[in-house]
Amino acid sequence: MTSRLSFAHLPTPVEEMPRLSAALKGPRLLVKRDDQTGLAFGGNKSRKLEYLLAEARQEDALTLISAGAVQSNHCRQTVAAAARFGMNCILVLFGDPPDPPDGNHLLHYLLGAEIVFTDRESIESRLAEVYQQALSQGRKPYLIPYGGSNPIGAQGYVNAMLELAQQKVAPDWIVFPSSSGGTQAGMLVGARKSGFDGKILGISVDQPADSLSARVAALATETAAFIGEKWEFTVHDVLVNDDYLGGGYAVMGEPEIRAINLFAQKEALLLDPVYTGRAAAGLIDLIQKGFFKPTETVLFWHTGGSPALFASKYQSRLLTN
Ligand SMILES: *Cc1c(COP(=O)(O)O)cnc(C)c1O
Repeated sequence: MTSRLSFAHLPTPVEEMPRLSAALKGPRLLVKRDDQTGLAFGGNKSRKLEYLLAEARQEDALTLISAGAVQSNHCRQTVAAAARFGMNCILVLFGDPPDPPDGNHLLHYLLGAEIVFTDRESIESRLAEVYQQALSQGRKPYLIPYGGSNPIGAQGYVNAMLELAQQKVAPDWIVFPSSSGGTQAGMLVGARKSGFDGKILGISVDQPADSLSARVAALATETAAFIGEKWEFTVHDVLVNDDYLGGGYAVMGEPEIRAINLFAQKEALLLDPVYTGRAAAGLIDLIQKGFFKPTETVLFWHTGGSPALFASKYQSRLLTN
């Protein structure tokens, strides 16, 4: 177990969503506000970065290096953490850079990132090159993997489940967006550690269920070992739904637009077009199909991401009337 820096705004509140529940004629709905974790508009990466930054500082790193999409929340929060602790940050980004920069990408620059663009296929190799170069220049780089999803970062969500246990809400289901798997892997380990007996259902944002489940199980096993627990996780321990992949990663479709509007107008909750909008679209569809029992309590874990609403490619299509 690594140590942790404490900069996120924790514990995040758990709130009721009565108007959304009524509008959907659904079960009792709760929301865990990890969109309010602080660190430049918040999100799930704050929890991972508390552990990753602790290790970076132990190694006397001067430069954080990470990678993601042009509208990456992970990269926005990583460069924010670098600024907060007086480090430099190099981001390797894929996708078409908006001109002028908007949404998260505007914040990447505003928070002081040095940016290297590449294409999606070359992201890993370009990241390795940028790291080697920074190393040879004496910039003491610390590499944060895609999404902050390794056993160090995943500890943030082990801890988040212990936090939830303290809040005494014990939902039957936790529903949230899952992508690089660190959030879900941490939750699984934290669930075992805290004795949580509800179900943890990741709505896949960009991958088929079998590959995401395998990744989550492997990372959960590694994370458990990292904190000194000999727990094996297999794909049978992982719940992933991949029915809502739509047009693929970061493609906002009608279901996301409807979900974003509904959450805003019923609960004043601001989702995002890529992750929480997709997971909420899945949640709404599952409620409408009668997937949850009327007596159950479902907790939507809001993982953040709202700055992407202000990327013009999404902004221009969000309003439904
Ligand atoms: C990164 C991110 C996720 C996915 O978390 P993983 O740990 O990568 O699975 C979900 N929601 C938002 C808003 C994110 O930025």
